[in-house]
Amino acid sequence: MPGRLTYPTVMPSPSLHPVPLPSNHRLYTARLGSRRPLLRNFAGRPNLMHPKRVSARQTLIFDADDTLWENNIYFERAIEEFLDFLDHSHLSRAEIRATFDEIERATATVHGYGAAAFGHSLRACYERLAGRELDASALATVMGFAERILIQEIQLIEGVAETLAQLAQRHDLTLFTKGRLEEQRSKIERSGIRAFFAHYEVTPEKTTAAYLELVTRLGADPATTWMIGNSPRSDINPALAAGLNTVFIPHTHTWKLEHDAIPPEHDRLILLDHFRQLLDLF
Ligand SMILES: [Mg+2]
Repeated sequence: MPGRLTYPTVMPSPSLHPVPLPSNHRLYTARLGSRRPLLRNFAGRPNLMHPKRVSARQTLIFDADDTLWENNIYFERAIEEFLDFLDHSHLSRAEIRATFDEIERATATVHGYGAAAFGHSLRACYERLAGRELDASALATVMGFAERILIQEIQLIEGVAETLAQLAQRHDLTLFTKGRLEEQRSKIERSGIRAFFAHYEVTPEKTTAAYLELVTRLGADPATTWMIGNSPRSDINPALAAGLNTVFIPHTHTWKLEHDAIPPEHDRLILLDHFRQLLDLF
């Protein structure tokens, strides 16, 4: 079954504090160079649980946005266009951005994720800061910033297609992405990598319960199941809580709302710098 059709209201995480992912990411990147991937946890010590490639067949669950393909950069670009358009008389871009981030957190609890929710946030931000409702022309312009995200060409992250092609020969691949069903499905179909996945699902929110339900539907064993993604909040922490193994591949432009603290040490968490390094693991 490709997706879930209901979208319950979700509450924001109480711990939406950023973690210094970019600086950590650079640290690990700088240490790369050996043939082996850098299998380290965040404390910087080698993760000894999986020092060698896993030979048995595994269930590999992949996040999509900013793990398989670029996503957040398009939203960031749209926000820059919005700031230009707003051209506020006295608020700085940083001040407007802080207001927008606050609105976006609230919007996610009602409208979920994706370009449509983003459009709601842009409109609400404009109306709050301009102190008036948008006229038809301004509304079309602002919503256009969000609508253009929907028709972006899918840009795969480097190494993704080749890596998936090899992994699909040895393991069972599932794609698990959150957002609106139609929007995410459209991206999957346009990505050109749909065929590598035996199964995909779109979920309104990646909670621990959502992971447990997914693993049950797949008939998978948590001990041989891995969640691979860029988001501490959606991919790593709830999957760890569900008893899964995890591979964290940070992305420099991960959305603020996906930031979260992750365990400094965990025997079911592996950090990689690059998607292609999955071939050294699986
Ligand atoms: Mg992601």
